Amino acid sequence: MLIDTHAHLTDACYGGADDLIAAMKTDGLDKIITVGYDLASSRAGLAIAAAHRDVYCAVGVHPSNAQALEADIFDALLSLTQAEKAVAVGEIGLDYHYDDTDRDKQLRWLNRQLDVVAACGLPVCFHVRDAYEDTQRALDARGADIRGGAVMHCFSGSKETALHYADRGYYISFAGAVTFKNANKFPEIIRALPLDRILVETDAPYLSPHPFRGETNYPKRVALTAQKIAEILGKDFEEIAALTRQNAYRAFPKMRP
Ligand SMILES: [Zn+2]
Repeated sequence: MLIDTHAHLTDACYGGADDLIAAMKTDGLDKIITVGYDLASSRAGLAIAAAHRDVYCAVGVHPSNAQALEADIFDALLSLTQAEKAVAVGEIGLDYHYDDTDRDKQLRWLNRQLDVVAACGLPVCFHVRDAYEDTQRALDARGADIRGGAVMHCFSGSKETALHYADRGYYISFAGAVTFKNANKFPEIIRALPLDRILVETDAPYLSPHPFRGETNYPKRVALTAQKIAEILGKDFEEIAALTRQNAYRAFPKMRP
């Protein structure tokens, strides 16, 4: 059984996700964390989690969505973190990939959401893309506020960056990109990391693993990423499933049975 630590079950393509959730056990899924990217999707994710025993939720505003924020979100987000099934604040972070990136705004809202993290004590799910230096500065300045630890979701940085995060006690979460034909850098990173830092996720409906690349993704395909990691490490699939499951329970304590 696997835990998909990062999916977006609120996406319209899943039509409420009831069928997908009903098939979880047959699909080999123990738990799914559905992740918010703004306040509305965070509330919707919490509603799905409240209705399904094995679904949990992260609440937060994605950096690209944070650019559109007008009013303060501290109180609203803090109150969402108090929900029983809210296991993390996220996804929050920095994404400098797009042309319309407003770095100042992203940094301001990252820091405001780290105020929420400091207030609630939950772990953080970080989204970082093309922004490793500014993320490093933010982590150096705010590290003490991240008491519940952190997960670097859909990791796409260097081996040095991965090891640095692991040294901080953070988790590195791998998605479908490790299965892509041109994913040359991942084996070295995965072999270098301590085993107790590795998580798996889908980021569904995005980032479908090989051989479904480019298609709508589903949480059950986290198995393809776990299988690839097992191959890279020369271990059995079941061993990687158990390992990443234990890591997920340690990373997200509110999810523990
Ligand atoms: Zn995501």
